[in-house]
Amino acid sequence: MKRLTISLQNRLALTYTLFTGFALLVLALVINISTGLIFTTLVKGNIAGETGEIIRAMGEQYNPMSRSFDAVAIEAFGMHFVHKGYIITVEDEHGGLVWDARACDMRECMTVINEIAGRMEGQFGMSGEMRQDRYPVRYAGRTVGTVTVETYGPYFYSETEGVFLASVNRLLGIAAIVLMAAIFVISIVLSRAIARPVNKSAEAARQIAQAYSGSANGKPLVIIDDHYQTKELAELARSINSLATELEEAERRQKQLTSDIAHELRTPLTCLQGDIEAMIDGVYKPDREHLESCHEEIIRLAGLVKDLNTLTSLEWESLTLNKTEFDLADLLRITAEQFKAAAFEKGIELHLRLVESPVLADYDRLKQVFINLLSNAIKYTDTGGVTVAVEKAANPGVEWEVSVADTGIGIPESDLPHIFERFYRADKSRSRGTGGAGIGLTIAAAIVRAHGGTMSAGSSGRGSVFKVAL
Ligand code: ADP
Repeated sequence: MKRLTISLQNRLALTYTLFTGFALLVLALVINISTGLIFTTLVKGNIAGETGEIIRAMGEQYNPMSRSFDAVAIEAFGMHFVHKGYIITVEDEHGGLVWDARACDMRECMTVINEIAGRMEGQFGMSGEMRQDRYPVRYAGRTVGTVTVETYGPYFYSETEGVFLASVNRLLGIAAIVLMAAIFVISIVLSRAIARPVNKSAEAARQIAQAYSGSANGKPLVIIDDHYQTKELAELARSINSLATELEEAERRQKQLTSDIAHELRTPLTCLQGDIEAMIDGVYKPDREHLESCHEEIIRLAGLVKDLNTLTSLEWESLTLNKTEFDLADLLRITAEQFKAAAFEKGIELHLRLVESPVLADYDRLKQVFINLLSNAIKYTDTGGVTVAVEKAANPGVEWEVSVADTGIGIPESDLPHIFERFYRADKSRSRGTGGAGIGLTIAAAIVRAHGGTMSAGSSGRGSVFKVAL
């Protein structure tokens, strides 16, 4: 079954709109209910006020002398209140009818009642009915009559109150519609601002994948804008950019490696081919001297292949370290011993400055590191000597610092940053003569890194110094 998918932008816009719309709805409801309540209290107060005014006005029309009401004045007041929605009946103290609004002007009473009922039911949806309340009319502390006030109940809005409430409701409605529209537009703008960088990153990732799947012609470096104010989005764009650069760099390195290997293999193979062809053609005799020369080339080739193998396993981190506890000083002493004869032959001195330095490391791999360093030191030194030292490290995070210093030809400043790169030789023609392929230091550095240590090279004044921090 195909799963329903929705774009990030639409999803965000929908979420924003729903959330803010819901909040707006709740707010509108609260405003509506509370204004309704306040308004109703106000309206009820007004009705009570008007009723009080009616009772007072009717009381004022009582003449204690004649013990009767001024019917003409009562009619004037009564009709005034009829227009306001109060249908009044006045009786004297014996229950005799003094004035009845309906009897006076039935048509006007019905018009007013219908108008109010129409307003309350039609406009505000509040159904009610006419209700009567009887109040005593008092004069000098004595009940002198009764006023019956009939109104639309439980309460009703006067014309002005109705207009006011309708305007408030209309304004609220308009405000809600305008706000909803504004929220919708803002949601789209906001969600676009978030979705755009994500879409760009996704598009860049797709292009990168296409570029490296071989389906694209050429491999353009896809770099996207990473100047976003949202931290995570900027981080995402930066990650995509660094992925693109890393991939390009990895590919460049791979190409470089292939061409370097081809180059390194070509020279000994050409020599071998030449020697063997010369022997086949009878130019050289297949004697010991020529066979030994061929053998040397084969040994060099085998060494190169072995180095490459080590390097590959180190670079792919498939190297498992076989760690044991031993004294670095012992290892350095034993390794230096192997180079004594070579140093003696070149007439250079080999000094050791060692202190007891217990470590937990891979003995054989570290031995490989120091063999590489010592063989280089002796190879590139013609006068003076080589000093191997181990001392407590001053830097935090490492324990021991081993240095192999020589008084040889040194390394040019410009070559120092590249010295640990594969196949890098400070002086290409010279190194070829000395037999190196430029992998020894790369292997040594990779082994040290695998141990969590660091390796550095320096060359100031006379000779070079290599430091291994473990
Ligand atoms: P190689 O097998 O060519 O010696 P390395 O990786 O061991 O390869 O060394 C890389 C390059 O660094 C060498 O070709 C050489 O130019 C330079 N180098 C290494 N050690 C020394 C040293 N002790 N003195 C001078 N140059 C050195």
